[in-house]
Amino acid sequence: VAAAPSRTKRVLLAAPRGYCAGVDRAVVTVQKALDLYGPPVYVRKEIVHNKHVVTTLEKRGAIFVEETDEVPEGATVIFSAHGVAPVVHEEAAALKLKTIDATCPLVTKVHREAVRFASDDFDILLIGHEGHEEVVGTAGEAPEHITLVQSPDHVDEVTVRDPEKVVWLSQTTLSVDETMETVRRLREKFPKLQDPPSDDICYATQNRQLAVKQMAPDTDLMIVVGSRNSSNSVRLVEVALEHGSRAGHLVDYADEIDESWLDGVTTVGVTSGASVPEVLVRDVLDYLAARGYEDVTAVQAAQESLLFALPNELRRDLKLAG
Ligand code: SF4
Repeated sequence: VAAAPSRTKRVLLAAPRGYCAGVDRAVVTVQKALDLYGPPVYVRKEIVHNKHVVTTLEKRGAIFVEETDEVPEGATVIFSAHGVAPVVHEEAAALKLKTIDATCPLVTKVHREAVRFASDDFDILLIGHEGHEEVVGTAGEAPEHITLVQSPDHVDEVTVRDPEKVVWLSQTTLSVDETMETVRRLREKFPKLQDPPSDDICYATQNRQLAVKQMAPDTDLMIVVGSRNSSNSVRLVEVALEHGSRAGHLVDYADEIDESWLDGVTTVGVTSGASVPEVLVRDVLDYLAARGYEDVTAVQAAQESLLFALPNELRRDLKLAG
């Protein structure tokens, strides 16, 4: 008689998860700016797409605004990790704002690629989500050269001036698999399509998706900690469902978990988006432990050690302040 399969409740915990180097740098930038200049410090858009991070910084005196013209003349404004179009720098200069640019260096890299290919008169097919701040910022580098391609289904409607001079670039936080499918279809249409000089989907997005892919076939339920406007967090739920999780949910906080999600569930996968502080994951693990899911096994898909230096303008002021 074959042994019955184990029905012990357990958690598979993704690694890497949570903060990436770009988010860490952006959040520390706001914290250090508050320490150095004193509140209020203005931040254009959410510094990173996480409710908890934004609320915590607001309590310390950060004021989040949607547009540069909401910042009083002469005040200090920090640009978010998602990057800004050149026109935003011009608006800030006109208002005599002191600016600190917390754009992730991996987003800046994509901006530079856009500028370079535009100056070589390429048509740039930017794969990304319409309206996402990063896409608005990147497209603003070369609006006449850039066409947004939102998904494989949008490829049919793409037109270019010269099919011999076409390159694709992408948002940093997309689904790797869906992006490759979009590229495959674009290349069918434009065989001379060039690839970006290096991956635009960043290491953190790729690694978090890789861990979820490894765990998903063994999980009945995947809980992703992250905010609804966080592109990379939303992608993690999609990747989990595509790779075998029977259910998947995105939560900002442990108290958003619905008890009924755990009905009949043996294995819960847990991960978090690149803008999520670890304390929120701990809360979810505590919630699960209190319901019998105490056995936690890490699933390590990659090692990460990248760190970015703080923005130059802030480092200079920190040095002057001694
Ligand atoms: Fe930078 Fe990637 Fe993190 Fe975005 S997700 S801030 S591109 S490292």
